[in-house]
Amino acid sequence: MAERKLREYRKKRKFDSTPEPAGDARGRSESNRFVIHEHHARRLHWDLRLERDGVLVSWALPRGVPPDPGENRMAVHTEDHPLDYVDFEGEIPKGEYGAGEIRIWDKGTYETEKFEDAKVVVRFDGERVQGRYALFRLKDSGRDWMIHRMDAPDPRREPMPEHIEPMKATLGKLPRDDAAHGYEIKWDGARAIAYCSGGRVILESRNLRDVTAQYPELRAIGRELGSREAILDGEIVALDDDGRPSFQLLQRRMHLTSDSEIRRRAKSTPVTYMIFDLLYVEGHSTMELIYEERRKLLETLELEGASWQTPSFHRGEGKALLAASKERGLEGVIAKRLDSPYLPGKRTSAWVKVKNVRSQEMVIGGWQPGKGRREGTIGSLLVGYNEGKGAKRRLRYAGKVGTGFTDESLRRLAEQLVPLQRDESPFEGRQPPRDAVFVEPRLVAEIEFNEWTTAGTLRHPSFKGLRDDKDAADVIREEPPTSR
Ligand code: MN
Repeated sequence: MAERKLREYRKKRKFDSTPEPAGDARGRSESNRFVIHEHHARRLHWDLRLERDGVLVSWALPRGVPPDPGENRMAVHTEDHPLDYVDFEGEIPKGEYGAGEIRIWDKGTYETEKFEDAKVVVRFDGERVQGRYALFRLKDSGRDWMIHRMDAPDPRREPMPEHIEPMKATLGKLPRDDAAHGYEIKWDGARAIAYCSGGRVILESRNLRDVTAQYPELRAIGRELGSREAILDGEIVALDDDGRPSFQLLQRRMHLTSDSEIRRRAKSTPVTYMIFDLLYVEGHSTMELIYEERRKLLETLELEGASWQTPSFHRGEGKALLAASKERGLEGVIAKRLDSPYLPGKRTSAWVKVKNVRSQEMVIGGWQPGKGRREGTIGSLLVGYNEGKGAKRRLRYAGKVGTGFTDESLRRLAEQLVPLQRDESPFEGRQPPRDAVFVEPRLVAEIEFNEWTTAGTLRHPSFKGLRDDKDAADVIREEPPTSR
């Protein structure tokens, strides 16, 4: 009986080159054992195998076992495996069937409620998986099944939160109680939160836009995490030839929409995800934990790859790190209170950004036509920031920005600004020069500058790039507390 069932299993494999069991050992069903293998094949998946009538009846689960009854997952029925496969772990060599690492993700016993051709209902008693599950074949399909959790979600597990707004830092100076802070390099890029589950990664920008498709090279983080569920916080950066993050370079990646363009640019201008916080891991939120403990847990994940890193933080010694960041031409440092929890969406003094060069986002409210060499295009941008909240929100004029452009950025700005044109000034109070062309205040630009003048305008501002990860309504004037 078992011999006939293993025919397909044997046909697919060459037992002089794969370490997998040939299944020659007498198949003897001792009990109702089950195993779930994590299989790092070309595509990461999990293999569920149930001991039954002398073989292991098997399904491949592309996203693993669903922890929640609200989410059914695919289960592809595969060939029966020999009983001794229940203990198998190893590396199937390149070129062989199912090449890649196989390790046991969970094992235990199960009780059968139903075992029919198109429906199986079992209760698992494993280390990780416990509870009733149904496997059912989809109508008119041979191999395609679904797996459904019939019990309530595992009470030991908190569901993974969705759409977390990143915690923000206030602009300031190095904190006085140096030893109470951890210091990180401030990365000049685009903030992103990564939701990793069942080998899959979803990336959201700080205004909760799904930017997963934008950065295909970051999908492999899911493979590295395997079945470990995690929510990561970090900054997506594009590094220049000297290894410094360049927001200007990142501009080449931020605004693409076509898949082929994205793939091409991912090769020519690859990005790196600098991971600095952990908000959820293995069924538990970590946001209530203090910074120091979150960092400790983050480091246990050992996330270092071709396109991602977990840069270390420094306990105290903020001054030295700030000086080093300046020397390396980096934007600055962020001081984070070691005892502070993660507060989604909040801008608090628990995180303070200390910058070597001042820069902030500004709302574009219009432009001035160019003169001379820039005749017929944009000469300068007219920018501002919001004051007040809700119905009392007003856009204040902060000056004109006439440098920092490239031909490409001027072209893109013109393309996006022309359709937004309007007659009235969006600024209230102080107004820009007479020849201004006004637009709906929707676009947000990153502007570098020396300081705020006493009149409330920017001194020596320069354009660094457009930001579509920030809403114009959220742009405010950031300034160190001492200058208030
Ligand atoms: Mn497999």
